[in-house]
Amino acid sequence: MEEVKNIGLVAHDARKHDILEWVRYNAEKLAPHNMICTGTTGQLIIDMFKNEFQGVSPRITKLKSGPLGGDQQMGALIAEGKLDILIFMTDPMTTQPHDVDVKALVRLCTVYNTVIACNKSSADFIISSPLFDQPYEPVVHDYTGYLLREALEEEKEEA
Ligand code: PGA
Repeated sequence: MEEVKNIGLVAHDARKHDILEWVRYNAEKLAPHNMICTGTTGQLIIDMFKNEFQGVSPRITKLKSGPLGGDQQMGALIAEGKLDILIFMTDPMTTQPHDVDVKALVRLCTVYNTVIACNKSSADFIISSPLFDQPYEPVVHDYTGYLLREALEEEKEEA
């Protein structure tokens, strides 16, 4: 990942206040980076920058709303190596209609060794890390063994 990071920002409804507070507090640090947000979270962040940081014009991309496919769009960015950090403030107390998408997103971060925070403390540690403003190459697990797995070999033998 380059010095300028692609940062995903997502918050469940009960955590929208928290993510806004976090972005507001870290606005100057986040502004030079690319922010990619699910729809509703993104709109709140765009409005906040517009109303409270008039001299700053951050690059903010708004995907679809999370439950309407935005989480999956975010997942696709991870799979394509286009997202460096995901700040995903989740609500552990409410059943989410898009729970499978949420799980898939967290799982993809594990698959691709993508930096992820699901709560404010972890997000604080990430943004205050010296690595935040430096290039960094995450080591991705070698999945060659999986890609060439036995099941495919057997299939070839039978053909
Ligand atoms: P939203 O999506 O920002 O569009 O509300 C968040 C989520 O995935 O729940």
